[in-house]
Amino acid sequence: MHCMPVSARYRPDPLFAKLGPEFADPVAPARFPQHVLRWRNQRWAERVGLGELSASEWEAHFARFEPLPDNMSAPLAMRYHGHQFRTYNPDIGDGRGFLFAQLRDGDDRLLDLATKGSGQTPYSRFGDGRLTLKGGVREVLAAEMLEALGVYTSKPFSLFETGEALTRGDEPSPTRSSVLVRLGHSHIRFGSFQRLAFLERPDLIQVLVEHCCAAYYPQHLNLSGEARVAALFGEAVEANARLAGGWMAAGFVHGVLNTDNLNICGESFDYGPWRFVPVSDPVFTAAYFDETGLYAFGRQPEAVSWALAQLGGALSLVCPPALLETQLKRFAHGYQMGLRDGVFGRLNLVEGALDADMAFLSDLFGWLTETRAGWDQFFFDWYCGAASAERAAASPQAQLYADAAFTPIRAAMETRTGSNGAAFLRHPYFQRAAPVTMLIDEVEGLWAPIAERDDWSLFEAKLRDVALMRDAFGPS
Ligand code: AMP
Ligand code: MG
Repeated sequence: MHCMPVSARYRPDPLFAKLGPEFADPVAPARFPQHVLRWRNQRWAERVGLGELSASEWEAHFARFEPLPDNMSAPLAMRYHGHQFRTYNPDIGDGRGFLFAQLRDGDDRLLDLATKGSGQTPYSRFGDGRLTLKGGVREVLAAEMLEALGVYTSKPFSLFETGEALTRGDEPSPTRSSVLVRLGHSHIRFGSFQRLAFLERPDLIQVLVEHCCAAYYPQHLNLSGEARVAALFGEAVEANARLAGGWMAAGFVHGVLNTDNLNICGESFDYGPWRFVPVSDPVFTAAYFDETGLYAFGRQPEAVSWALAQLGGALSLVCPPALLETQLKRFAHGYQMGLRDGVFGRLNLVEGALDADMAFLSDLFGWLTETRAGWDQFFFDWYCGAASAERAAASPQAQLYADAAFTPIRAAMETRTGSNGAAFLRHPYFQRAAPVTMLIDEVEGLWAPIAERDDWSLFEAKLRDVALMRDAFGPS
């Protein structure tokens, strides 16, 4: 087998594979005609002890999927079902991806290396098991941007272009192919539990609950039986509610909030038809196939809450519904905390009493929606609140800030302004003329030169800009 330099930070821990054959199927990765590296997340590779891999080792593991040392011996296609646009689908599962390895980071979190576009599996149905290059590029951009904005997200770890010609309904075809590896905090979805409920297997639900507690919420291992199930559910409610708040603060529309795209740790993942909003617009919809706007920007909290109720339904096979309902009530508080953390992080404001802060946020979102102020521009203009008053007065949308309707927002920010704004504002990011944004026309604009002449310079420049912004906001 392949040899690699042993790094003390590399801590393999392939726990999921120990669950056995009821939860996943061993699969073989596709063989690709070509491997051209398009993205290597060196920052996160170092954090999980894989930063020292040579180029050829990286290719062996993340394009040919040779096992990592002391890790999973074979990739596993995970089994799950899910509600897609509120219709139950028992025919899904990892149809173009698999779990490849598990390892711990410096915070002792159990992380997955999982793929997208790595070939067909028993769950591919009519699909080719592949990911378009544009799809891979879009996932890298979404996740990098979200991480920079402080949203709890999976990390794009590796992207190889793979030299195949794919046919797709939603891209000019043939289109180029890729294989993505993402580093994520769990791929155990709400739908992983729903499947076991559908199969009427409370015994297996118990096994999966136990696994999730051991792997992700060990603080609840001392509980037993129903109390443990309820505690796990409560953690999932809280974490996913926070996530919904984080998306709203980031101006992010995930696009496909099906129960197979939400996981037990509340980490955002699986970026398909996502978009960032240009202005606050509750009905802004990302996916062209979302005809009713079910997953529109302003409906995301409701969508996540609905999905959590389905998870609760599955868990009710092993826990009295009353206990689960109590946990579901944690949603509102979790959402408020996620929203406040997200907005206050983007504005670097000082928190006060939750009720008063929420009243401010409600006014702010109302004002943003009413005026259609540039979303990213607003947050850029008012970083550190009142400390940015002069910068805001020089903004292209300065007139909006001069209007009387803005006075209460300005006052609310003033009372929440910290003392060292000037130091934060010295960061080069805040010397830029404009914020770093990831709007759809920019994404299409950086894709065009790749498609036309294999010119990756705009893609790379965008990722450098995002890195600058991430550095300005500090580690999240
Ligand atoms: P997604 O919309 O990416 O979350 O995928 C929903 C379901 O469709 C999952 O079971 C995927 O594995 C499957 N799927 C999506 N695209 C493909 C494809 N090209 N080939 C096989 N399965 C796919
Ligand atoms: Mg998915």
